Amino acid sequence: MASNVNIEFRKLFINNEWVDSKSGKTFPVINPSTGESVADIQEADEADVNQAVQAAKKAFERKSTWTQMNASQRGELLIRLAHLIKDNVSIITELNTIDSGKPLTASIGEVLQGVSLLTYYAGLADKINGQTLLSDGPVFSYTRREPIGVCGLIVPWNFPISILCMKIGPALAAGCTLVIKPAEQTPLASLFIASLFKKAEFPAGVVNMVPGYGPTAGAAISNHMDIAKVSFTGSTEVGKLILKASADSNLKKVSLELGGKSPNIIFADADLDYAVEMAHQSIMYHSGQICCAGSRTYVHEDIYEEFVKRSVERAKKRVVGDGFDKKSESGPQVDEDSLKKILDLIESGKKEGAKLHCGGKRMDRSGYFVEPTVFSDVNENMRIGREEIFGPVQSIFKFKTIDEVIEKANNTHYGLAACVFTKDLETSLTVAHAIKAGTIWVNCVNYFSPQQPFGGYKQSGIGRELLVYNKILRLSLLYSLQIKTCKIILYCLTYSMKFCVYEMI
Ligand code: ADP
Repeated sequence: MASNVNIEFRKLFINNEWVDSKSGKTFPVINPSTGESVADIQEADEADVNQAVQAAKKAFERKSTWTQMNASQRGELLIRLAHLIKDNVSIITELNTIDSGKPLTASIGEVLQGVSLLTYYAGLADKINGQTLLSDGPVFSYTRREPIGVCGLIVPWNFPISILCMKIGPALAAGCTLVIKPAEQTPLASLFIASLFKKAEFPAGVVNMVPGYGPTAGAAISNHMDIAKVSFTGSTEVGKLILKASADSNLKKVSLELGGKSPNIIFADADLDYAVEMAHQSIMYHSGQICCAGSRTYVHEDIYEEFVKRSVERAKKRVVGDGFDKKSESGPQVDEDSLKKILDLIESGKKEGAKLHCGGKRMDRSGYFVEPTVFSDVNENMRIGREEIFGPVQSIFKFKTIDEVIEKANNTHYGLAACVFTKDLETSLTVAHAIKAGTIWVNCVNYFSPQQPFGGYKQSGIGRELLVYNKILRLSLLYSLQIKTCKIILYCLTYSMKFCVYEMI
């Protein structure tokens, strides 16, 4: 079950060179399936971030190779990178599974999603246009969309590769230069990808990678005076620190994709087998370590008992194990801290009166495994009904009317996503429009595509991932554009009435 993959890249990637950290310090990478250290990685902190920013700043100078390059050539480099990732898909997949513990099938899906994202943005690089404007008076006015400068990209551990590609694609298509910090738990696959930037022949300094801890390397990025924008994905708590750091330093632009407590609403007319499976997957996939996980399952009272019974049967059948075991449907939690937090919340659920049907314990084996857990009789006053658990814990709530469930679903300070299961078009649209969340999936869960934006209402974030226009580009000269609030409604016709509603700012 182990991997023999060689962990070749353990240093910082700055100015197209592999360098040791200035302090000489290293940090261990732990395989969460075993709890054992697999590699020591050079640990970046403020001095190394400064060096990386200097390199990125130089690469962004007015007459640099990068800024003089045609936009279509930037697209070509991105395509080359996408091909190199595809050529190395098995190594990157294995490194991703060692890093995160996720099963190989999930891991390869994630890497290929990264390839699709880069391919999409490669095609956009030479299609970033401004406008000419009518003006009163004898002036010619026009807008230009310009790259904002050096961007700091702070990446989380749950989807280290797809989120990395989600951030580098638009930033490089636009012509920015980058300082990237992978999460301390999952640097291995990202460092391998760093090696491919050089192979793809990106000019030195355009992409720099500084593995290290959040409060040191991450904070040095969010406080840096020469970084123009930070794109962050992670917890709401750290998102607030990043926004504060921006205010206290240079008012750098910030986009934040943060936590969630997404409702998953099942009406009595839904296809029961399908809804049970989807609700299960939306919280159990990747052991619940997904920001948009359906962590509050609301079920109509007419089908409640049956739904709970079938959900418990399904959870008991879930195969949890080492990511390298082909039978595993999901793997471990990412680390000991995460596991402890989940177990603490499970205990609080029991104490606060929720009914525990299965799971609830650490698995009796090495690594950070938690049993798939199902609670019923949950309400919003309980901690498990309010707080983000980030673990394989399904909390099932009961509702009677559509107005009641809308009110309950919106009774949260998060607003990342929601799911609705019903065969009734009016019910689905009423709920989709009333829920304050960035993405609403109807009769499907966690559906992603490079063409669709992603981000949150309320404390689930600021800005949207996967949009080139409001993300990295700055509009200059005579005109400043406000992207108006609008909605994209996307219908998927493969199952009766699957569609998604996206809120865009
Ligand atoms: P989680 O709680 O899911 O581990 P975090 O928000 O703590 O998520 O981490 C997401 C990313 O943010 C990681 O790369 C982490 O190192 C980084 N990070 C953590 N703390 C800070 C901080 N104070 N400033 C900047 N980045 C940070």
